[in-house]
Amino acid sequence: MAFSTPAPRAGEWSALLPTRFDAAARDRIEGRVQAIGRDLLEKSLAAQPTVLSPDYWAEQAGEWVLADDDLKVRLFRLVDCMPMLDDPAAVDRHLREYLDDESLEKLPAMLRTALKAARSGILAPFAARAVRAAMLAQAKRFIAGTTPAEAGKAALRERRRHRGFTLDLLGEAVTSDAEADAYAAAYARLLAELPPEAARWPADPLVDDGPAGPLPRVNVSLKLSALDPRFDCIDPAGTTARVLARLRPLWRLARDRGAQVHVDMESHATKDLTLAIFKTIAMEEEFRDWPHCGIVVQCYLREAPHDLGHLATWAQQRGAPIWVRLVKGAYWDYETVHARAAGWPVPVWQEKWQTDACYEAATTFVMEHAAVLRPALGSHNLRSLAHGMAVAEALGLDRRAVEMQMLYGMGDAEKEAVTAAGWRMRVYMPYGELVPGMAYLVRRLLENSSNDSFLRAGFVKHVAAEQLLAAPAPPARPTAPADPAAETASAGGGFMNEPLADFAVAANREAFAAAVARARAVGAAPPLIPVVIGGERTEPAEWFDRHDPSDHARVVARVGAATAADARRAVETARAALPAWQAAGVARRAAVLRAAAAIMRTRRFDLAALQVFEVGKPWREADADVAEAIDFCAYYAREAERLFAPRRVDVPGEENATTHLPRGVAVVIAPWNFPLAILCGMTAAALVTGNPVVMKPAEQSSLTGLRLFEILREAGVPPGALALLPGRGEEVGPALVSHPDTALVAFTGSRAVGLAINRLAAEASAGPDSRVIKRVIAELGGKNAIVVDDDADLDEAVVGVVGGAFGFQGQKCSACSRVIVLDHVHDAFVARLAEAVKSLGVGPADDPGTRVGPLVDEEARDRVRSFLEVGKRTGRVVAAVDVGPLAERGWFVGPHVFADVDPAGPLGQEEIFGPVLAVFRARDFEHAIELANGTAYALTAGVYSRSPARLRLATERLAAGNIYLNRGITGALVNRQPFGGYRMSGIGSKAGGPEYLLQFTVPRTVTENTMRRGFAPPATDEP
Ligand SMILES: Cc1cc2nc3c(=O)[nH]c(=O)nc-3n(C[C@H](O)[C@H](O)[C@H](O)COP(=O)(O)OP(=O)(O)OC[C@H]3O[C@@H](n4cnc5c(N)ncnc54)[C@H](O)[C@@H]3O)c2cc1C
Repeated sequence: MAFSTPAPRAGEWSALLPTRFDAAARDRIEGRVQAIGRDLLEKSLAAQPTVLSPDYWAEQAGEWVLADDDLKVRLFRLVDCMPMLDDPAAVDRHLREYLDDESLEKLPAMLRTALKAARSGILAPFAARAVRAAMLAQAKRFIAGTTPAEAGKAALRERRRHRGFTLDLLGEAVTSDAEADAYAAAYARLLAELPPEAARWPADPLVDDGPAGPLPRVNVSLKLSALDPRFDCIDPAGTTARVLARLRPLWRLARDRGAQVHVDMESHATKDLTLAIFKTIAMEEEFRDWPHCGIVVQCYLREAPHDLGHLATWAQQRGAPIWVRLVKGAYWDYETVHARAAGWPVPVWQEKWQTDACYEAATTFVMEHAAVLRPALGSHNLRSLAHGMAVAEALGLDRRAVEMQMLYGMGDAEKEAVTAAGWRMRVYMPYGELVPGMAYLVRRLLENSSNDSFLRAGFVKHVAAEQLLAAPAPPARPTAPADPAAETASAGGGFMNEPLADFAVAANREAFAAAVARARAVGAAPPLIPVVIGGERTEPAEWFDRHDPSDHARVVARVGAATAADARRAVETARAALPAWQAAGVARRAAVLRAAAAIMRTRRFDLAALQVFEVGKPWREADADVAEAIDFCAYYAREAERLFAPRRVDVPGEENATTHLPRGVAVVIAPWNFPLAILCGMTAAALVTGNPVVMKPAEQSSLTGLRLFEILREAGVPPGALALLPGRGEEVGPALVSHPDTALVAFTGSRAVGLAINRLAAEASAGPDSRVIKRVIAELGGKNAIVVDDDADLDEAVVGVVGGAFGFQGQKCSACSRVIVLDHVHDAFVARLAEAVKSLGVGPADDPGTRVGPLVDEEARDRVRSFLEVGKRTGRVVAAVDVGPLAERGWFVGPHVFADVDPAGPLGQEEIFGPVLAVFRARDFEHAIELANGTAYALTAGVYSRSPARLRLATERLAAGNIYLNRGITGALVNRQPFGGYRMSGIGSKAGGPEYLLQFTVPRTVTENTMRRGFAPPATDEP
């Protein structure tokens, strides 16, 4: 992969991007960079804001904030939620929460006194209004207007300063087709209305003249993620088709009206897809000769040189030039944090000089290919721009073929200096509403307050010119962390989660698609799932077929129906294997688990593809299930070694050692919804602690169960220590649970079955031939709620609720089935939620673009349908997705949302296990918590709020084993989020947590009196 490319040393970047300049030419260019740079810097410094200017004070305020990291975070968060706060009381409350007394002390005296005065007395509401207005005014420094008319006027003001513009409508990553349509329509209006007006503006040769005639006066920049709510790298074909359907009319309009369209670049995950869509449309016959289109390349990406090379080759084939805007990149912090959290290679350079050097190499490359890649340098760094100007000079490029670009509200003095030097300057001007614009604003604040920022170094810190203009080179002391992976591992106490597949990587998509094809190919001869006891396979008398939930005509497996007699034999065989498996010792058992994890890694996508067909799991969810199974093996191996190390407390004359023993035969009864992970987690925990296991996979996922069985055996579990008992739960379950030799039952599934197992285990323990009080570990259901506060980021809340409620069709015990929304934002939230739900892609699970697949079987479908009838009778239908002909093919039920539901009714209380969501209106936050806690369950819960005090309150009061703040409520990771609930959600300690294995063991303490006739050896361990 390109991003594994190590950074070249200073001066060797031409190895990544070849140049025709030799060392001598590069030295000459460097001389010119210094001369041009000094000139630009002097002119910029001369035009800097003075103490009388508001901009000066804005920059100073930034410096106060920067002095303290905690204050910076608090203020950014306050700014972020400000547009949502439309009444003074809410502003006042947030001010108090974010700027507590301790934070206030960090502010300059004048500001501190003013804020303290504003907090007290009857002036508080007015002060709150004034603070909000001041903060929003700050935000507006970077935003050119709210309406197209305002933006048009601002654009005209730029022209009067001899600068061009590119207009950008604020907003990104839409949540529904309605929002994507609105975004496209706004651009269409702009492209229809502004060019005729622009044609009447007086000409300005510096701005208008291009190398081959006049340039379009109207230039727009847009984000492709705003054109499709399902924009996802996992499904390039589907995303491309949907984006192009909205993009093509805009390109046509731009072409007809003589405007230019530039495609922005967003996160690394969408970069390849964005490039591919751009190339596709630019190659279409009607646009192939159109030169007024462009794309961004972010030079902080390790892949930038590779992408530029491909762009140049492609543009040559196309024939007509495109514009390439070179930027460093606006998402550096996000990319770094996100990749580290996911355990992926960090895609951005980790040292600032590397990004700068890459930018310069890219500049040289683009200028050397200016015939097809027209250079637009988007930077506020005068060294970077001076370098571009010097290279253009050295190549003898027509200045009109090159442009410099900067952001609205940043580097105004520099813009003047660049224009005065005779180069075209284009200003990137975002406009639109502040709420959707907050992400943009926070990026600007981050950028301006970064220690690595040129603007800050040059114009606030007043760093010396030699340093500012120095060629990019490594600093004396490295600034990047030594090993990001080691940092992540140490945060997890030495354990690292198995990274999920990064579907932005084409090789991963292709490998997954190939595994899906292989799994599909076995359709003609479905595998048989036998009973295996003591290593012997037996063919049961009865078999039943398992069908693909997406296409029930297709048989996925033929499942053997084990009998009660098989169950008894399995427990007895396991009992006989106990002594040897116990004696094998923890080191060997842990090694077996690690070997199983290693095998699963090699079969990763095949195991996932199996689930696609066996239980209807969409790609990403299926991959996550396998990763979790690997985590369970690796984590429990480690934990068992920790747990089984004897704990010694010796005193003179007495030695004490506490150790752990296996409980005995463990019966594992697993559900189908995490067919590999949960079965594997319970089985691995039991095995590694020395218990032989009788494994009973769910009827619906027996094939996955067989594959796990085979892997564990291959990894070294002896034949007697693991039995596979496929079949119907009601047939074998009671025989397994009630057998006198069964010491432990680990169950995950429904509340009804869990309670029945608990009762049966208790009764059997009291029976005459009982030899043990059976232990039951049961993880049952949930009726999980997400609370949406009145200051929540509604974009994030909609995405989180939709993901939680409809991911894997709502068939997760952690799924969100209730959303409780504060009255103030209830209607706005529900309207957006409804549109988002209507835009979900329902389809067969093997289609990578599917967000919502089928239900697991006919019974599940019928049960969910019956709840839909209840919803229609007792609530208001907010969204009801019709699955059309899919209903004939598989067990599909479209996502449904009901509002005005009775919290005490079935939709408010019963676990549905399907794509059905109930919405409740809460009077205030306390009421919301009360509603959230108003069921018998306590599994997961979530809150979207930007109030620190309310987040604290929710943490204290929400009844749930797993509470998630400002994120989705599913997808718990082993070790990071040990998983499990209480009340009717289960008994036992959390899976994937440090106490889980204890439940599978019996602690035993041995005490030895070492005193002999008054003589005792020295104690080895003092208490
Ligand atoms: C016209 C225009 C259009 C833009 N369009 C886009 C776009 O589509 N997509 C996009 O992502 N950005 C875009 N940007 C934003 C741009 O990425 C940032 O403004 C730019 O990165 C700031 O760089 P600079 O050269 O102005 O300043 P400098 O101060 O020289 O560089 C700051 C940049 O260096 C990089 N950096 C910071 N710290 C490190 C580190 N430790 N290691 C490695 N690199 C580091 C980051 O990219 C940071 O933004 C655009 C900017 C302009 C002017």
